[in-house]
Amino acid sequence: MQINRRGFFKVCAGGMAGTTLAALGFAPTEAMASVRQYKLLRAKETRNNCTYCSVGCGVLMYSLGDGAKNAKPAIYHIEGDPDHPVSRGSLCPKGAGLVDYIHSEGRLKHPEYRAPGSDKWQRISWDDAIDRIARLMKADRDANFERVNAKGTVVNRWLTTGMLCSSAASNETGILDQKFARSLGMIAIDCQARLCHGPTVAALAPTFGRGAMTNNWVDIKNANLIIVMGGNAAEAHPVGFKWAVEAKTHNDAKLIVVDPRFNRSAAVADLYAPIRAGSDAAFLLGIINYLITHDKIQHEYVKSYTSASLIVREDFGFDEGLFSGYNADARQYDKTSWNYELDANGFAKRDMTLTHPRCVWNLLKNHVARYTPEMVVSLCGTPAHHYEEICRSLAETSAPDKTATFMYALGWTHHTNGAQIIRAAAMIQLLLGNIGMAGGGVNALRGHSNIQGYTDLGLLSLNLPGYMPLPSEKQTDLKTYLKQITPDALLPDQVNYWKNTPKFFISMMKSFYGDHAQADNQWGYEWLPKWDRSYDVMMQTELMVEGKMHGYIVQGFNPLAAFSNKNKATEALSKLKYMVVIDPLATETSTFWQNHGEFNEVDSASIQTEVFRLPSSCFAEENGSIANSGRWLQWHWAAAEPPAEALHDGKILGKLLMRLRELYREEGGVCPEPLMNINWNYQDPEDPTPEEIARESNGMALADIYDDKGTLILKKGQQLADFSQLRDDGTTSSFCWIYAGSWTEKGNQMANRDNSDAGLGATPGWAWCWPQNRRILYNRASADLQGKPWDSKRKLLEWNGQKWQGIDVPDFAATVPPGKDTMPFIMLPEGVARLFSVDKLVDGPFPEHYEPIETPLDTNPLHPSVVSSPAARLFARDAKTMGKASDFPYVATTYSITELFRHWTKHARINAIIQPEQFVEIGENLAQSKGIKAGDEVKVSCQRGYIKAKAVVTKRIKTLTVAGKAIETVGIPCHWGFEGTTRKGFLANTLTPSVGDANSQTPEFKAFLVNVEKV
Ligand code: SF4
Repeated sequence: MQINRRGFFKVCAGGMAGTTLAALGFAPTEAMASVRQYKLLRAKETRNNCTYCSVGCGVLMYSLGDGAKNAKPAIYHIEGDPDHPVSRGSLCPKGAGLVDYIHSEGRLKHPEYRAPGSDKWQRISWDDAIDRIARLMKADRDANFERVNAKGTVVNRWLTTGMLCSSAASNETGILDQKFARSLGMIAIDCQARLCHGPTVAALAPTFGRGAMTNNWVDIKNANLIIVMGGNAAEAHPVGFKWAVEAKTHNDAKLIVVDPRFNRSAAVADLYAPIRAGSDAAFLLGIINYLITHDKIQHEYVKSYTSASLIVREDFGFDEGLFSGYNADARQYDKTSWNYELDANGFAKRDMTLTHPRCVWNLLKNHVARYTPEMVVSLCGTPAHHYEEICRSLAETSAPDKTATFMYALGWTHHTNGAQIIRAAAMIQLLLGNIGMAGGGVNALRGHSNIQGYTDLGLLSLNLPGYMPLPSEKQTDLKTYLKQITPDALLPDQVNYWKNTPKFFISMMKSFYGDHAQADNQWGYEWLPKWDRSYDVMMQTELMVEGKMHGYIVQGFNPLAAFSNKNKATEALSKLKYMVVIDPLATETSTFWQNHGEFNEVDSASIQTEVFRLPSSCFAEENGSIANSGRWLQWHWAAAEPPAEALHDGKILGKLLMRLRELYREEGGVCPEPLMNINWNYQDPEDPTPEEIARESNGMALADIYDDKGTLILKKGQQLADFSQLRDDGTTSSFCWIYAGSWTEKGNQMANRDNSDAGLGATPGWAWCWPQNRRILYNRASADLQGKPWDSKRKLLEWNGQKWQGIDVPDFAATVPPGKDTMPFIMLPEGVARLFSVDKLVDGPFPEHYEPIETPLDTNPLHPSVVSSPAARLFARDAKTMGKASDFPYVATTYSITELFRHWTKHARINAIIQPEQFVEIGENLAQSKGIKAGDEVKVSCQRGYIKAKAVVTKRIKTLTVAGKAIETVGIPCHWGFEGTTRKGFLANTLTPSVGDANSQTPEFKAFLVNVEKV
């Protein structure tokens, strides 16, 4: 019987159930209108977290394959986890498309090989791939390994092959990355943090003691004022942004957005203020000046908890844009004078009256006096009345019972003075007494799902786990190294927690080298590679172009799309001898040698790089932990196996390391010791499990451990309860000291799922947060010297007569009573937060406004002889690629949009459908002057190249008046490329300049010069 859809409904309406008809075989041919079985009925539910941004939303994954023999689970539905305290069941358009990412047609299924000069891939077996890669690595390592430097110091480094590490893989994979790379002597390792939040750590650690988001997502609801500046949380972190809306709705908070574009955050703000891209430091320094001149300061907080009263050396100075100690040839400062005057005991001198002309308070006052409202408005192009309202609103939170919070992301980090912009915001919050407070803080909104974790694990060129530095070649022995990195207290009676550095380091070395690390070999100190300079991604690219790097392992990273100046990146990768790409998806980097017409105009035959493409698992196919922006380590579970021949990253690294060891054992080679001695004693060394690595990350007792009174606190073999149990005598191990407490004798704390609200939205029973499960950093500063909370409604801690307790774990010595000299910033040797960053930043102890290297002004009205940052990272080769305003008159800025995540979601069908084609945004005035209408194709060009895209003509971008000149802004979303499911597009980084932040070498992506023409 044939029946059409309409007829089918008629029959049903006549009283016959669709199911019965269907059961009788009368189903319509085109559409089934029957009541279907609930689609999740037989599904298995598995908990995980979204793999995109660092909100870390909880997801429930549903798979078929109920454990029956031979049934392979397949994930067919994903939805938000309603129990998750941050996301509460929500997912943004990116998270809502996760299932399409898992099943993307861009998923890699088999290992592939591209021969030198070839224009195609060929299939290769895993064994052949691993064998060939290991051979290439060994040959390069043996030929170029530096056992000693020119002075004869042992350095044990291999500089000619580098590694880029993922930002979405689990911490457990990151631990393997660190061990793998350092065991071979690599220093040229980096992760996505270099290209996103590098300046955050560079700014916040010297200011407060730690380089992380101070509060957390849910806590934003406690704010009275929210400033979204240097980011666009509604688009880039949509579910986290709900807590800003919650603050507006239920806490009567005011939301202010400052951005070059009227963006989606601005759309729900109480006030939106435009700003010229690249002028944020001036804006913030102007606010500091306003607060001081209008006496809107939390005086007691500033006096007691900041460095305002400390006296700075006499030889410190600032003149015409330069701090004391500048060397123009080296583009570097000698920072000796950027320090305190010390007394005979080595403590900083102080003037609690704040009248000494060289106390930090008065130096700061003088420094910011130049940032008058007129100067700020002129530099930033912000309307004066908006600027004043923002100053006034912030000033109101100097009252002890009011807090403001800053939410920022790449809009601040992607500048040549990114770290100093963030410093300026941190200083504002100190002046207002907003640090350590519920609803306060400087909330660095991390981008990728586990970039916080990869930063914690030290996957950056000169870092080690837990924010310890990799030794330099000048630190020739362990004693020297530990002495130089272990600070002495700078004021009496301070906690100065970094005084425990030897315990952190030696426990890490026991994790790195196991029984091979012994006191008589300095715990293996010699085996760690020693650096002569940074080998960050900008340096790596430069060295590749110079032919000085030969090999590159690229794991979960797309450098062709992510590095600055795509054409330079192409040149660099083309000079490599071999490149190994480990990724779940077909990235542009893996096919950089393929000609894609205008989108990637290369000559395949002339590119001699051997390329291996190894398929790896994605988030849904692995167990492990990732750290969200609020430092929560959340454990997740696999719901399916990796597709086809794809393998977990850990297995790929395990196989490669084992093959390399085999080659060295069989054939010998240069300096095999670090490789042979690295602790890779996993049950299956070719396939370490996340669980055993997570336990190692936490650390354990290697002998019975006793406290000061001789009481046994841990038996040999037991997991550490927290980092206070670490020892410096080799009797404890811990890969990453700040993660101690994450997997204790009580089990996996990262898997905790108690979402009860302990007050103010704190959920200490959900997941585990470093350090020590503290949810708000510096929380001792939420109470005054006598221990009374500044605001009784925001009580985080109180003194109960014997110890500090409350809804959060005290970020303080728990038994030190109020009224003592011990101050809340326990990670700093002063115990107080730094308004003057002493010698910890390379471009000045106070922030300063410098123009972007490509400036539309050609001058800096504050100091015309020093226009741009005098210490920004700029190679001579790149200096020649900078454009001038006369040729490229418009300010361009790149950004993300809600529907897409970097260059990943263009591989997910649903996201490709909702944002199928590349576009740029221009204001109406510019469009009119160029005869451009909405939908026209335009060419955006700069000194380095061009892209073409559809024009979106918008009122959201206004013409700004800056230093008397009309400035137009061009907005460039950065999501398209020549691979993926969307229409082909240009990589936006074709336009961005190779110039880096002075402190973190993070490239500038937010302010550069372009021209626009109708095609
Ligand atoms: S992209 Fe971010 S906000 Fe969106 S669902 Fe994923 S974690 Fe949540």
